[in-house]
This record gives sequence, structure tokens and C-alpha cells, in this order.
Amino acid sequence: MLKLHIPPLGEQHQADLQALQDTVNQQVDYAAQVAYAKGSWDNKPRGLFARLKPQLAAPLSGNGRCVYCEDSWADEIEHMRPKDFYPEQTYVWDNYVLACGPCNGSYKRTKFALLLANGELHELHRPRGSAVTPPPAGGYALMDPRVDNPLDFLWLDLNTGRYTANSDDEDSPQAKRADYTIKILGLNARDSLVRGRKAALSGYLALLKHWCDERESWTEAKRQSWLQDFHQQRYRSVWAQLVRRYRQQRLHADSFATAAAFIECFSRAPEALDW
Ligand SMILES: [Zn+2]
Repeated sequence: MLKLHIPPLGEQHQADLQALQDTVNQQVDYAAQVAYAKGSWDNKPRGLFARLKPQLAAPLSGNGRCVYCEDSWADEIEHMRPKDFYPEQTYVWDNYVLACGPCNGSYKRTKFALLLANGELHELHRPRGSAVTPPPAGGYALMDPRVDNPLDFLWLDLNTGRYTANSDDEDSPQAKRADYTIKILGLNARDSLVRGRKAALSGYLALLKHWCDERESWTEAKRQSWLQDFHQQRYRSVWAQLVRRYRQQRLHADSFATAAAFIECFSRAPEALDW
């Protein structure tokens, strides 16, 4: 997962969303807002959201890959803060990212947790038949890639393809948020993702070697075209972690087989560190 830079919405689209949100907010109480938000979202204006989707897709890496898993095609607007608990954010632009079906529908769904003032992680549940009341106050546990830089929170082990919290203190809010995000999105639980990250490593090395060996014989147009293709690669977090470790001069300490080859290529083509 990488930080997303999504531009602010244009005035008309902002007004369109606000008008929809007003219809939720006007419901008589919180429970009515929750019920209304669900029905409203199921019947949202297709044309408007068809126009919004490309704006959410534009900053995604790897040819529109899912913001969470970086593997599958992102085609669903996902509420980071679920409308079941936060109906007041049903039509709020800053609450949207574009995710794939498995991440949105099978893993995250309506799961959400808060970090309370006492440091406790509080998972939101609303069993069927229980009172529909607002969540308690607290910080959001799930990382928000529109606000947070996931690289600050997550550590990707290039040897195993698995994520851990990027913190030595497992009780820190940062570590709790990282662990919760990894768990709720199944980032390590899905073997296909773990294997995908490992495979991405060899894919990136092949591309980097190709660039190092050939770029001087290429025209500028060929270089630009090649770079465009490079940016279509999936699992951009793998690349980001490679660059981070190289810049820290710690890539040699990561015990994966191709570390030395990456170090050699980065030293020959330092411009790649800015890709
Ligand atoms: Zn996904």
C-alpha cells in the first residue's frame, strides 16, 4: 500500500455529493441515517459515480491496481469508514478509495476499529437486533492512504514478502494501526499476495537490469515509453521498499538472494531511485 495523492473534487461534483449527503443527514436520527445510507448507496446515481471513479483510479499504481492489495484491478468505490457506522461519511469524497472486489467484499467489508484514548483497540460490531448507536470517540485504526503514508507504518520483508509493523514498540499506536490494517485486509493471510510480492522482486530486477544495460543505446522516446511500461507494474510497495532500503544503505543486510544485484544496478542507474 502506498500514499495516494488524489486531487480535490471539482465544484460541481462536490455539490452533487453534498446534495446526496444532505439526504442522509436529514434523517430523523442516527439509526434512521444508517438505514437510509445503505438504501441510498445501493441506488446511487450511476452516472455521477462513473465520472468519479477515474479520478480515484488515476493515482493508483500498476495500471489501476487495488489501493490495498496492489494485485487485482480496482473497480469498486470503497468507504474506508463504513457507512454502517459512519453514515455521515457516505457521500464524502475523502472517505473513498478504489479497491478490488476481494479486498472490499471479502476481507474488509464493514469491519472497522478505533484506537481509544486508553490505547485499547476497539472493534466495532453491531450484532443483528442490537441497538443502532454511534461508535465511541476514537482515532481510526485502519490506515488511510489518502492521509497516512503507509510506508511509515508498514515494513515489507523482501525475503518473505510479508508485512509487519514498522515499529519496535508493539504497543505504540502506529504498530497497532499497522497490525490491524494487515489483519483486516488479509495482506499476509492471502498466499497469492505474499507470493506475488516475492515474484515482483524478480520482475523488478529483470526490468532494472534491462534499463541499466540498454538505456544508453535508446532514444529519449524509447526511454520514456519504457518508463511508462515500468509504472504499470503491480506491487509498487515492493519497489518502494527496495528504494527505501537502498537509500538507508541497508539493502545488503536484507537476506534475499538478489540484494547484491539490486545494489549494483541502483549504483549504475541512480535515477531509478526516483521512479
Ligand atoms: Zn485488493
